[in-house]
Amino acid sequence: MDPAYDRGVSVLHLDADELNTCVGCGLCLPHCPTFRVTGEEALSPRGRIAAMRAVEWEGAPVDDDFVGFMATCVQCRGCEPACPSGVPYGHLIEATRTTLATTGRTTPWWQRLGFRALTHHRLLLAGSTLLAVAQRAHLVPKRLGLGRLPVRRGAAVAATGTDVWLYTGCVMDAWLRGTHRSAASVLDALGVGYAVPGAGGACCGALHTHAGLHADAAALATRVIASMPGDAPILVDSAGCGAALKEYGHLLGTPEAAAFSARVYDVLEWVAPRAGELRLARRADPIIVHDPCHLRHVQRAHQPVRDVLGRFADLIELDDDGLCCGAGGAYSALQPELAGDIRERKLAVIDAARGPATVLASANPGCAMHLAGPLAERGITVAHPVDLLAEALA
Ligand code: SF4
Ligand code: SF4
Repeated sequence: MDPAYDRGVSVLHLDADELNTCVGCGLCLPHCPTFRVTGEEALSPRGRIAAMRAVEWEGAPVDDDFVGFMATCVQCRGCEPACPSGVPYGHLIEATRTTLATTGRTTPWWQRLGFRALTHHRLLLAGSTLLAVAQRAHLVPKRLGLGRLPVRRGAAVAATGTDVWLYTGCVMDAWLRGTHRSAASVLDALGVGYAVPGAGGACCGALHTHAGLHADAAALATRVIASMPGDAPILVDSAGCGAALKEYGHLLGTPEAAAFSARVYDVLEWVAPRAGELRLARRADPIIVHDPCHLRHVQRAHQPVRDVLGRFADLIELDDDGLCCGAGGAYSALQPELAGDIRERKLAVIDAARGPATVLASANPGCAMHLAGPLAERGITVAHPVDLLAEALA
């Protein structure tokens, strides 16, 4: 029995009411990627909640098994929309991961160092270029699951006005800056002026939250909020970053953070009601639509992607209810075996649905990088939906 439990102290620091919500119905199980590939109850949402309860309510030890159950969760949150009881699983796993990181059970120093590098944007850009060169020299192990990084990334987007903020992020700007230029060209076509965040507004802290580095994530959120003052809407073209910005209200627990989150939109969520103003050339080939978990399960903003792309192309849907692809931020690098198994399921679903399509739309850089390699072998390229929209501008 954990001595902290014996003293009546909450070991994992979970909200008791939130932990109590699960009724054990199991309706979430088919929506959990780690359960689907392993068939193990302990690697399902219900199993993980039961393990949290055992620690919090019965004094079970925080042993290696427990740490493994929590560390293998992709944090895709596919279990949340499937749950009839509204279990806020994201809150439970984030608090648990924070306790595990704080007590040194997860997130060793070298991972913390890597996450810290994300907050120094120039260092990140230089490191990404070095990594891209190393990739060309075949010095980067394939098991890391990194897609092909750009040696040259082109010009950064520059402000044109103050109607909206265009959030540029850290990894997104280093690896997929062309997507920012696509978003900018769509805003130009709509006659909308955009500002870009000031110094310190690069990293949103999403990966820090996933890794249990709560204090770092909160400090980054504070910097991001300060970098985009005023009332203008904030448009985000990375689903993971958009989800993080929309959850700053919960992360910081202040009215100011909640007001900031209310200004945040996925870029196509904001463009969709205005898309009728765009002159678009019809695309001859269909587009496969892939829903990143943080767009579908967290932001619940996957329909606008269809509303916009459907204006100029036929769309191909995947028959798996938005099951995760296994990217999960840093998950594909930290849990490569499970991430690979989960990706295989996704690839099988894509193979079954693709028909003549040679392009797949994904609104998250992590998913795009994770899927790009094996999809290239199938003759399919991955593009952000806003890249495809910019291409279609007549
Ligand atoms: S967040 Fe994803 S991987 Fe984790 S328990 Fe829920 S469905 Fe499973
Ligand atoms: S998390 Fe929700 S769906 Fe899953 S077992 Fe608990 S109550 Fe049922």
